Amino acid sequence: MKNRGYKIANQKLDPYINIDPGTMSPYEHGEVFVTDDGAETDLDLGHYERFTDENLTENSSITSGKIYLEVIEKERKGDYLGKTVQVIPHITDAIKQKIYNFEKMGIDIVITEIGGTVGDIESGPMLEAIRQIGIEQKEEDTVFIHVTLLPYISGSKELKSKPTQHSVKELQALGIMPDILVCRADEKISENMKEKIALFCNVKKENVIENKTVSNLYEIPLMLEEEGLANAVCKKLNLKNTNSNNEGWEKLIKSIKENQNYKKVKIAIVGKYTKLEDSYLSVIESIKHAGYKNLVNTDIELVDSEQITKENVKDIIGKYNGIIVPGGFGDRGIEGMIETIKYARENKVPFLGICLGMQMAVIEFARNVLKLEDANSEEFEENCKNAVIHIMKEQKEIRKKGGTMRLGAYPCKLKKDSKAYNIYGKEEISERHRHRYEYNNKYRMEMEKAGLKIAGTSPDETLVEMVEIKNHPFFEACQFHPEFKSRPDKPHPLFVSFVKAQIFD
Ligand code: GLN
Repeated sequence: MKNRGYKIANQKLDPYINIDPGTMSPYEHGEVFVTDDGAETDLDLGHYERFTDENLTENSSITSGKIYLEVIEKERKGDYLGKTVQVIPHITDAIKQKIYNFEKMGIDIVITEIGGTVGDIESGPMLEAIRQIGIEQKEEDTVFIHVTLLPYISGSKELKSKPTQHSVKELQALGIMPDILVCRADEKISENMKEKIALFCNVKKENVIENKTVSNLYEIPLMLEEEGLANAVCKKLNLKNTNSNNEGWEKLIKSIKENQNYKKVKIAIVGKYTKLEDSYLSVIESIKHAGYKNLVNTDIELVDSEQITKENVKDIIGKYNGIIVPGGFGDRGIEGMIETIKYARENKVPFLGICLGMQMAVIEFARNVLKLEDANSEEFEENCKNAVIHIMKEQKEIRKKGGTMRLGAYPCKLKKDSKAYNIYGKEEISERHRHRYEYNNKYRMEMEKAGLKIAGTSPDETLVEMVEIKNHPFFEACQFHPEFKSRPDKPHPLFVSFVKAQIFD
């Protein structure tokens, strides 16, 4: 729809009660994605941004918890003027408002995704809200798209449409008639099967869209375009169906496919949430984007930092061309990260430290180069004598959002004589943050003198945002999260240089 010239916005409605996923373990929910305006959101927003290249806001990530909190706070203030406050209409009105908010933002089409499965108790009010929107708006202003599953039974080698029939029935019982069915399937859906689904589910056959498993997720938009999804949407919304300009994306897919044949580089992400790939989703995608750009095949492995010791670090880490220590919270596995960074620094293995990864790089440098053996972060040792990473009391003012966390986009000024400046090709950058602790300015001089260069700071120079080491193929560490801004067709410069450094090793 964007490539047809429409201004679009994506939005996710999550039925759970948490206000946002900020407090959830990555094992519960995968990574927490952060928007420019500092919202801690569902990782689906990362997908939305990567696919559409539109920066989203807080209004794009709504949970039941957020809605209920808002309504209950209003109730306490007496805003409902003595009325009984109920799920319908008060909760549903609050949900609808979040969807209608996009009207003020000049958006042509808002694509609202409701998480969970039809029939879940929790998502009831959200489905009721969109049902109401369907009758409040003109027929041509809404389209209901239902994503269903066609399981493949390998014994009889067939797809089954029963679960789709049942979930459509369930949805109809809630008053919603889907206009389009997007059917997830591991195999091709035959014409006969599409006819059967159309007949039993009360949709037009051309609106039964195959969404087949593909080898690379970035192939999906073109596949759905070929299946006629956007055409069906234009028809229902009575929109001018101009030609879709997909050239850029087609080129990207072509280069992704060719990439399989290129040289392989092995990259380790050394962290503590390694049992679930989704914990590092944006980091993994950013590495892949950089691989597409550099024409290399990136082979990414998650390595559990808890297993790494001084004795085994070479055996575990030695086989990788590049190492990333990503973000994280809490002290589990940090000693293994420090050993890893020491290995990368001394053996000149390309290294990228992100957020906690930068903090660990600073601690490693303080301990092993400055010989401050007790150097640590206040996060792990509150009364540490050499807290090279600490909470800046005077910074609390600028962190009103999210309590003591620094969240969302902040400007950063790069030093002209730094490698980081060369990588970005400009002095002023803006990157997204999500952390409590900062580099301790007390150690700046000592560290710089010993070779840990401050490559970037906040414009007023009070906050250290990037550090790097000279005479190293690539040793960059940042207090922010570059992975949130990488796009498959616009890879992030830090990741591009990080991968590039490995080709020439
Ligand atoms: N735990 C660290 C902090 O709060 C780093 C956070 C992160 O890596 N996102 O500052």
